[in-house]
Amino acid sequence: MYWLGFVGDRLLVDGQRSPLLRQPPEQWEPMIELQVGEHRGRSVQLLCFDAKELPTGWDDAGLRSLMLEAEPELAPILGRAAQLNSWYRNHRFCSRCGEPTRADLGDFSACCDRCGYHQYPRISPCIIVLVTRPGEHGEPEQCLLAHAAHFQTERYSTLAGFIEAGETAEQAVAREVMEEVGIEVKNIRYWQSQSWPFPHSLMLGFYAEYAGGEIQPDGVEIVKAAWFDAQSMPELPPKLAISTTLIEGFLAGVHHQL
Ligand SMILES: [Zn+2]
Repeated sequence: MYWLGFVGDRLLVDGQRSPLLRQPPEQWEPMIELQVGEHRGRSVQLLCFDAKELPTGWDDAGLRSLMLEAEPELAPILGRAAQLNSWYRNHRFCSRCGEPTRADLGDFSACCDRCGYHQYPRISPCIIVLVTRPGEHGEPEQCLLAHAAHFQTERYSTLAGFIEAGETAEQAVAREVMEEVGIEVKNIRYWQSQSWPFPHSLMLGFYAEYAGGEIQPDGVEIVKAAWFDAQSMPELPPKLAISTTLIEGFLAGVHHQL
């Protein structure tokens, strides 16, 4: 058995900076304990502790860096554990009547025994899209990448945004691209998805083709955007993100097979 221990939203690590604990903190009672997966043939149990300080002698590490460093099959388990930890911490009271909820570990719901309301883990669908266009005058094909205001380095990435109530994923693609960089797109094609536990998104990855307009960054979320070809790629996002997979797919010609 391995344990993944969260104290508040902080993920505990052992002396080797591994989140897979062989022993949970002694004399600490978890608020929630449930299985979140299997790793190397062992059950992985999530432990959620309700405390402000870490137990004496323990350290924590950031989820994003741990997922980047983790073995490929462990990263989704870490993401699932983080989302469920966040879910139970933030839904301890019924949103309808205010009564304390009871965690139903069978379907991950937070149940209210007073009014019967069941709340389920929040998952927020989000589109992420790589827009492409043929090169002019025999030049190579290009893709549109953008530099967001919150990026801490000079990197560029794909465009993304949350799906709004009543909207299809394809409508969200067209709206987000128009809002963020002012261009029209066509031939919107779904490719693949990724759970993104920061804090609870489901990223739906698309390719789309340029249909018209000039690039005009909105100046709020996006401060710079430009067309790049395979020979002129800027600094790109870390490997973990689906944006990287979309860009690598473009370089490999995946979007022509969809
Ligand atoms: Zn209630």
